[in-house]
Amino acid sequence: MTSMDETLSEPSGARPVLRLTGVCRHYGGLRAVSDVSFEVASGERRAVIGPNGAGKTTLFKMISREEPTTKGRVEFLGRDITRMPAYRVAKLGLSRTYQITRVFPALSVLENVVLATQGLRPGRYQMFKAAMSNKALVEDSERAVEQVGLQRVTKTPAAELGHGEQRQLELGIALAQKPRLLLLDEPAAGLSAVERGMMRDLVRDLPDDMTLLLIEHDMELALGLADYVTCLHNGSQVAQGNPEEIKNNERVQDIYLGRGD
Ligand code: ATP
Repeated sequence: MTSMDETLSEPSGARPVLRLTGVCRHYGGLRAVSDVSFEVASGERRAVIGPNGAGKTTLFKMISREEPTTKGRVEFLGRDITRMPAYRVAKLGLSRTYQITRVFPALSVLENVVLATQGLRPGRYQMFKAAMSNKALVEDSERAVEQVGLQRVTKTPAAELGHGEQRQLELGIALAQKPRLLLLDEPAAGLSAVERGMMRDLVRDLPDDMTLLLIEHDMELALGLADYVTCLHNGSQVAQGNPEEIKNNERVQDIYLGRGD
């Protein structure tokens, strides 16, 4: 298949928060991501959809710099971050969540958020205990805990949270870092129907000016949350458009109904 994407409407606006130009990731002979180019405008909610193995997670890992980019260019806030170390990209304001929850089970909800956030501030090598007495840090963390609806379990060890609450905590950790771009990797993966609904509401209610890039397997969920959608298949970009355009796109329908190549 070709890497040519079918571009429908394009969002307009000022300098994009994220710009990908011809981005590729090869593992030996396997082209996990092949020639992907798109821009995400400030405040935009962009979903990247596609079936298993489409290259969504690999694309995310290149943006967050957990994986090297084989070819192409990644720009964040106008800076070329293609070869920048991941910690520096995080400091510029890029946060991500993972498909699998990554929290410290023995620490409380609030402690998890404080611990994750202190790493991005000056004096990050201070002792954890000192961080917990840093008023501004704790207040910011409490706000993030509230934002994801966990205020009633602030002091509860993460291990005692339900799976859905752990995903909420992970979102809180990412939000406490006050990201300029938030990458959400299947935030509703493994959740029950009720928990999925709650996660959808949390993501939908994030501040309007927060720029989001969301990977989602579930097309309905993705189309409900996104302003704009990029569909990947076998590593290539096969369609872009607003949710309505994507819903009616024959190529996307073929892929999701298993008729794709
Ligand atoms: P899923 O929805 O199942 O998470 P995905 O769209 O996120 O899928 P990726 O995980 O990015 O897809 O995988 C894209 C392709 O790259 C797959 O064929 C996968 O097997 C392959 N791949 C991913 N990581 C590696 C790796 N470290 N080494 C070799 N191949 C890899």
